[in-house]
Amino acid sequence: MSLRRLAEVARGALHLLYPNACLICDAPEAGREPYRHGLCSDCLTAVTADPHAQCPKCAATVGPHAETADGCPSCRGRGFAFARAVRLGPYDGRLKDAVLRMKHAAGEGLAELMGRVFVEARGSALKAAAADLVVPVPLHWRRRWARGYNQAEAVAREVAIGLGIECRPGGLRRVKAVTQASQPSAAARRENIRGAFRAARGARFAGRAVLLVDDVMTTGATLDEAARVVRQAGSGSVNVAVLARA
Ligand SMILES: [Zn+2]
Ligand SMILES: [Zn+2]
Repeated sequence: MSLRRLAEVARGALHLLYPNACLICDAPEAGREPYRHGLCSDCLTAVTADPHAQCPKCAATVGPHAETADGCPSCRGRGFAFARAVRLGPYDGRLKDAVLRMKHAAGEGLAELMGRVFVEARGSALKAAAADLVVPVPLHWRRRWARGYNQAEAVAREVAIGLGIECRPGGLRRVKAVTQASQPSAAARRENIRGAFRAARGARFAGRAVLLVDDVMTTGATLDEAARVVRQAGSGSVNVAVLARA
């Protein structure tokens, strides 16, 4: 048994002993109110705090006095296929811990919880996107099979419920299995992801205002490519919502 698997088993046993343990840090007493059920107050505060100024276009952290009218250093001059990105917070600390835990089969409950926290904490920014359809960024079927679920889909489902709009998990398909993390540069990531998505037959994106949902945005290459495909299928505006922005 690998160390990681052993840690997962131990955590499972811990949650049997303390069914109210925090899903991020394992503190024995998590909140009991409906939307925060499963997170201790430290984790809830940490994942929703987001003290940094951010770029209104790509949601990257920027300096407190940065001029961002036409984007930030990481997106200026780069035309994204989506209009704006909304984030719950930076990919750091407890939010990073949460995202990493979501990458295991046992993380589905946490992913749903994070979707509810996202709407609760960033409702006005998400509503400002004026979307009428939520679409999660899909995993390639092989990775989905290995993980047991798609974390972006679990987050998207809850975001859609919170916003009171439709979620269409099968709208986009991932037709190319690629690993972005190992790519040496932003340009390599853009090249690597090209052609990875296709609009599903019967996706019916035409005229819809789409909110694309993913767990993490790093350079934005994956979300840019997904947005390009959705727009090519005839959608109206495309905006992006991510739990964490690296
Ligand atoms: Zn906690
Ligand atoms: Zn930016």
